[in-house]
Amino acid sequence: MQLERWFPGFPGFAKEAVAEDAVLLPEDGSGFAFFINGEPAMPLAAEGKVEAPVLVSSRPFLENLVRRRALAVENITLVAGRADGLVFERDRVAGARYVPEGGEESVFAAADIVVDAMGRSSRVSDWLEDGWPRPPLRRMPIKLNYSVATFEYDPTISKVVSSVSQTMPDARTGRIARVGGIARVEGQRWHMVVAGYDDDRSTRDPDEFIARCNRDFPALYGDIASHATMIGDIATYHQADSRRRDFDELDRVPAGLFAAGDSVASSNPIYGQGMTSAMLHASCLSQYLRSQPDLAQPAKAYFDLVRLVVDSAWQTSTLADLELPHVDGPYPKGDRLTKWFSDVMLKASRVDPVINGKLAAVTTILAHPDTLSGLGTVLRALRFSRRKA
Ligand SMILES: Cc1cc2nc3c(=O)[nH]c(=O)nc-3n(C[C@H](O)[C@H](O)[C@H](O)COP(=O)(O)OP(=O)(O)OC[C@H]3O[C@@H](n4cnc5c(N)ncnc54)[C@H](O)[C@@H]3O)c2cc1C
Repeated sequence: MQLERWFPGFPGFAKEAVAEDAVLLPEDGSGFAFFINGEPAMPLAAEGKVEAPVLVSSRPFLENLVRRRALAVENITLVAGRADGLVFERDRVAGARYVPEGGEESVFAAADIVVDAMGRSSRVSDWLEDGWPRPPLRRMPIKLNYSVATFEYDPTISKVVSSVSQTMPDARTGRIARVGGIARVEGQRWHMVVAGYDDDRSTRDPDEFIARCNRDFPALYGDIASHATMIGDIATYHQADSRRRDFDELDRVPAGLFAAGDSVASSNPIYGQGMTSAMLHASCLSQYLRSQPDLAQPAKAYFDLVRLVVDSAWQTSTLADLELPHVDGPYPKGDRLTKWFSDVMLKASRVDPVINGKLAAVTTILAHPDTLSGLGTVLRALRFSRRKA
């Protein structure tokens, strides 16, 4: 929806993506397979219709399309290079320094505003040290391990477009947390992800990947891994922590400086919130700039808006991550009550399409967590949480 808004004109963003081979999840939600603890669970389209069009493609495909549409905008120009510092002028950022692609010397680019979008390893905090406080950095050590394999799509094995399989840890049975995902992407391919935590590490070995799919995930995963043709190598990824930088808490921040996307907050990628968060940060920036602020003043109102988005995503992802036995905080205030309430919502969501839809909207950041705390919703969740799934 957001991409359609930002890139209007013919054809619409989703239409163009589909014309170029991205896969659209059918509106009735068929093609989506959701599993909790190995059992099929109520999908996001519980009320017979997905909340918003779900477009499935690989990351480079999506980024290429965004890049092409952005560069087609008349007043956007791209310079390629590596940013290596900020330039300050009294209480404001006057621009950034960067080394142009292929060059060695750093050059200065003057700017009215500078937006840090350098991802989770952004060095803007270091650059601020030249007279400015660093934003507080908070981390939650999640120790996520990820493997991704690609397979040729074969409808005789399955017609699945998208799947998520979540296994919650259970100390009584010894069950450990695992997450799996399948996405049918452009080029008649499936991407398949298997993820675990701490010392549960998957490798680049195709046999180990296939064995893991058969052993630790629903039959769909084993079927595809065992019978479809694997393409290319398996990629692995480790993410030590979720992290956030709370610029809104700074007493002093230079005017003209903004930060968005993972440079502000980057949580556990298995919840798939990162790109939506980054887009919402961009919406905050749009809203702020449209309010015709005084750019000679620090962008406090912008960082306050971003905080709302960060808190929403952080609350849902870290609450789930605190269930992992190796994650020992930091615990937010009132976490026991929040945990109890989240268990009630989860139980109810397995039997009640209304609660399921509301919860799905929050976990996909289409709605704020506060939308779950209305009296009617709480009472309904309590009632349905007592029913058997
Ligand atoms: C394994 C994995 C799976 C994920 N799956 C999902 C998912 O399914 N759904 C979802 O929504 N999110 C997912 N995410 C999260 C998502 O990728 C991020 O939230 C998102 O990419 C953040 O966008 P960003 O533009 O802020 O940062 P990035 O995408 O990290 O982009 C930052 C860019 O800045 C560039 N850069 C850095 N330093 C400099 C410099 N000094 N000069 C110039 N350029 C610089 C980098 O090269 C990079 O291109 C996943 C992340 C990972 C790691």
